[in-house]
Amino acid sequence: MTILFICLLPSVNVCAAKKDKDKDKITIVLDPGHGGKDFGACENGAYEKNINLAVAKKLRDMVIKELKDVDVVMTRASDVYLTLQERADVANDADGDLFMSIHVNSVDKKTPGRQSTKGSSVYVLGLHKDQDNMKVAMRENSVIELEKDYKEKYSGFDPSKDESYIIFEMAQKRNLGESIRVASDAQNAMVDIAGRANRGVRQAGFWVLWATSMPAVLVELDFICNPNSVKYMTSEAGEDELAKSLLKAIKKFVERRN
Ligand SMILES: [Zn+2]
Repeated sequence: MTILFICLLPSVNVCAAKKDKDKDKITIVLDPGHGGKDFGACENGAYEKNINLAVAKKLRDMVIKELKDVDVVMTRASDVYLTLQERADVANDADGDLFMSIHVNSVDKKTPGRQSTKGSSVYVLGLHKDQDNMKVAMRENSVIELEKDYKEKYSGFDPSKDESYIIFEMAQKRNLGESIRVASDAQNAMVDIAGRANRGVRQAGFWVLWATSMPAVLVELDFICNPNSVKYMTSEAGEDELAKSLLKAIKKFVERRN
C-alpha cells in the first residue's frame, strides 16, 4: 500500500514552484466544477457547469467587495474545459490559502424518489463512510475519463474502481482540521441563509481535494434531479443566497487567519 501511495505522488503538483505573492494577502481559490465539453450533471433544463459558474462568479464579486486584503483566483471564469489536475495546478501555483470547489449533486437515474431528493452537503477529503458518499466522489472524479490518457496522467487511478480509493484513506491531509471548520461553516450557512435541507459535512475521496496543498472543500449546492431545487439554484435570488452562504464561511476563515 505504501508503494502505491509513493508511486502516485509525482502526479500531484504540490512541489511546484510557487509564484511570488503578497504575504499579507489571503488567496481564496474558487473552482466552479466542470465547464466546456464537461457539462457535469444535466437535468430539468439545467447544466451543472452553468450553475457552478454563476454561483462562483457572484461569490468572487462578494469576496472582492467585502473583504480587504483577500485575493480571489478562479480556476475558470467562463465556460471552458479544465482537467482536475489543471484545477489543482491553478490552486497550487497561486499558493492558495483555501480551495473551494463548487458543484451540484445528483443521484442515480434508477433511485426511487430522486425528484424529491434535496439538500446541501459539503465534502472534505477522506474515505467515504457509506456508499452514497462514494457514489458522489465517483461521479465527480469520473470527469477524468474525458481525458484520453487519463490512466497514465493519474498514475493508474480509475475513478470507477473501489480499490483506487485506498489512497485517500492513507492521505493524512495536513489541512483536514481547517477544511472541516470551513465545511461546517459553509454547511450551516447554506441551511440558515439559503434555506437548504441539511445533508451535513461528509468525507469522500475527491481527486481535486487530494491534489490541492491547502485547506480544501467541495460544496454540493443541491440536487439537479429535483425540479424545485433547480428552480431555486437557477434563480437570481437562489444564486445570491448560495453565494452569500459560502461568503460567510470564507469570512470566518479570513477572521481565523488574521
Ligand atoms: Zn460536479
